[in-house]
Amino acid sequence: MLLTAEETARAARFFTDGITCLATRPVRLMEVCGTHTVAIFRAGIRQLLPAAVELVSGPGCPVCVTPNEYLDTAIAYSRRPGTIITTFGDMLRVPGSESSLMAEKACGADIRIVYSALDSLAIARDNPGQAVIFLAVGFETTAPTAAATILQADKQGLTNFFVLSAHKLVPPALKAILATPATKVDGFLLPGHTAAISGLEPYRFVAGQFGVPAVVTGFEALDILQGIYMLLQQLQQGQAELQNQYRRVVKTEGNPAARDILDQVYQPAGTGWRGFGEIAGSGLELTAAFRRFDAQAALPLTVAGSREPAGCRCGEVLRGLITPPACPCFGRHCTPEQPVGACMVSVEGACAAWYKYGQGRWSCE
Ligand code: SF4
Repeated sequence: MLLTAEETARAARFFTDGITCLATRPVRLMEVCGTHTVAIFRAGIRQLLPAAVELVSGPGCPVCVTPNEYLDTAIAYSRRPGTIITTFGDMLRVPGSESSLMAEKACGADIRIVYSALDSLAIARDNPGQAVIFLAVGFETTAPTAAATILQADKQGLTNFFVLSAHKLVPPALKAILATPATKVDGFLLPGHTAAISGLEPYRFVAGQFGVPAVVTGFEALDILQGIYMLLQQLQQGQAELQNQYRRVVKTEGNPAARDILDQVYQPAGTGWRGFGEIAGSGLELTAAFRRFDAQAALPLTVAGSREPAGCRCGEVLRGLITPPACPCFGRHCTPEQPVGACMVSVEGACAAWYKYGQGRWSCE
């Protein structure tokens, strides 16, 4: 049901007044998802909250958490003769250890931006003599599309289409955060779109095992205000539950059809996250039946040791240990035009959001 402007304003006042009443002690809430981070800034939600409520960004930007080892491997493939790399646009500008996909493209590598994994199949069909490698980056939300693309490639008998998988699952990263006492998170706004695929079950451990309240939250300003209100209600009452604010989209059981496709093609595996290192069971690798589409299995190549950019503190930003302005590079050597780290590149990156929407700049002056 669509609300009128007046109804929206009344609902926003209800939630902000409620949050102010409930904020009787300092609390630190993590918005796990980069889309939440951007929505919070765009709607000016931070300015509406009492000083006792601190919002901290989490590891929910797929481009940001993709480590340099992956970028360096993608760059190495882009230099491989007879290879076309297909990727979403954000990955292009992320600095790897020595180069970026953008720099490689400028030097002549065949790197093409696609808007969906399926676009890569047409490129593979049109270029039968070349290997087409899709950079499969994203969380539970995008992985089913990549899996459906691999099923299509199989059906079409394509032998020159491959994926370099960096798919990640959100719950294991939350477990890693909760196991780090320094992070001190009192409650989680959980990503509505990943829960729409996985359902609520994978997130129950947050409250059940760690005793921390969590609310699966939508992406409108009112959704986010209500999610914060629900977290504060729980904290005030000494409860720790998993609640679903985004019922209009997220069903308890998630999307079984999407998970079915995913399970046919992928299986959980350990994978590396920027700032976290390897997290067991947090990635997706191709099952034996589809391993011929795995770029690293089909077209093995060696990549020299990777390193993080000097001075960059993206890892701490992603774990909720610091906010972006605490990084000495923020707004000085690192800006969206000249990014040092991944969090300043992606449209969902916390550093880019802090910079773009102003608050970060004030602290740099
Ligand atoms: S400001 Fe730049 S260098 Fe610092 S953490 Fe953010 S992206 Fe990394």
